[in-house]
Amino acid sequence: MQKTPSAAATTAAPAIPFFSQAESFDNNWGEIRRHVIDVLDNGKFSHGAKVGELEERLAAWTGARQVVAVNSGTDALILLLRAAGLRPGDEVIVPAYSFIATASAVALAGGVPVFADIEADGHGVDPRSVAAAVTPRTTMIMPVHLFDRMADMRGVQDVARRHGLTIVEDSAEAIGMRMDGTHAGLLGVGGVLSFFPAKTLGGIGDGGAVLTGDASVAERVRMLRHHGRGGATLGDFAGISNATVLPGRNSKMDDVQAAVLLAKLAVLDAGIARRAELAARYDARLRGVPGVRGVPGERPPLPGSNRVVYVYLLQVDDRDALAAHLAARGIGTEVYYPVPLHLQPCFARLGHRPGDFPRAEAACAAAIALPLHPDLPEAHADRVCDEIEGFYTGRTR
Ligand SMILES: *Cc1c(COP(=O)(O)O)cnc(C)c1O
Repeated sequence: MQKTPSAAATTAAPAIPFFSQAESFDNNWGEIRRHVIDVLDNGKFSHGAKVGELEERLAAWTGARQVVAVNSGTDALILLLRAAGLRPGDEVIVPAYSFIATASAVALAGGVPVFADIEADGHGVDPRSVAAAVTPRTTMIMPVHLFDRMADMRGVQDVARRHGLTIVEDSAEAIGMRMDGTHAGLLGVGGVLSFFPAKTLGGIGDGGAVLTGDASVAERVRMLRHHGRGGATLGDFAGISNATVLPGRNSKMDDVQAAVLLAKLAVLDAGIARRAELAARYDARLRGVPGVRGVPGERPPLPGSNRVVYVYLLQVDDRDALAAHLAARGIGTEVYYPVPLHLQPCFARLGHRPGDFPRAEAACAAAIALPLHPDLPEAHADRVCDEIEGFYTGRTR
């Protein structure tokens, strides 16, 4: 994620990478070391105790009755879809604006992604567009909670009830997000978390989890993650040659990963609070800057739900020129997401054309994410704002 500052950088100011976790690692090193050494000492790198311990802690933190840790957010989605009863050829309605894994997980689980547009004033799927996409083959809806807030779950639940559809949430970005006290991922049959390093709870590699209130769904996910063998804990190697009723994969989380995540979970609340402070700082500085639209703080989250800032995303004029301007000054940005899902080459066979989901397309064309992570010093956030302001007002340095 760390970008090299452009050779054209003339400023002596330090580079501001889009993402870094070096400092939070240093600050938490004692805890990380303690958990990792536990794993090294008992020599169980797979099937060890840390994964179960992490699952328990995550259950307590989110309020999920069942948490199953796996090797990535993407595999969590695939396993959850299968465990929730997706059959080959079933249609799953997903937003046209999301990370690619939202739609590819549906395809990899054997289903067909069917796209819906997003809301006019946000990034979440539009319940009216979802309702319009329902066909006799639709069995599920998968809303996605993007960046700093949840999708309109009341609207989605309404459509699901009317058509008898199952809700699976792509809550990969949504740790800490809640609606009426219920954590994201627990408003339908289940949801997921991603522990990709840049995520709000990030590991030292890939990781993910399934959250659900349904014990039988959780048990099927446990079977699918480990060669069809279930069980509340991974236990040991014994029994892998026993009769297997469900062909499973190997999607287990490693114990070293769970150890690091246990240490990082202990400082998650502080990290979320720091993200909120930095977002408020950006909000205050960027409000009213010409060329900048969609300042996140100007749009309150839906009633009953909170704001947890994973990605600080703006909509701007001349996005690519702004990104280049910032890169030339050593400031890293990212585009979430450059291509709407319906126009991804891997879904070409679904036959979509530009213009099919205009809001998703407009969001992709104007989106830019600024550096925001617990390591970011305030002075760096201020410099990012100075440079953005300079770009749009012509007073560049
Ligand atoms: C990160 C992410 C995923 C996938 O998670 P990985 O852990 O990277 O596999 C899925 N959906 C969304 C919306 C994400 O942001």
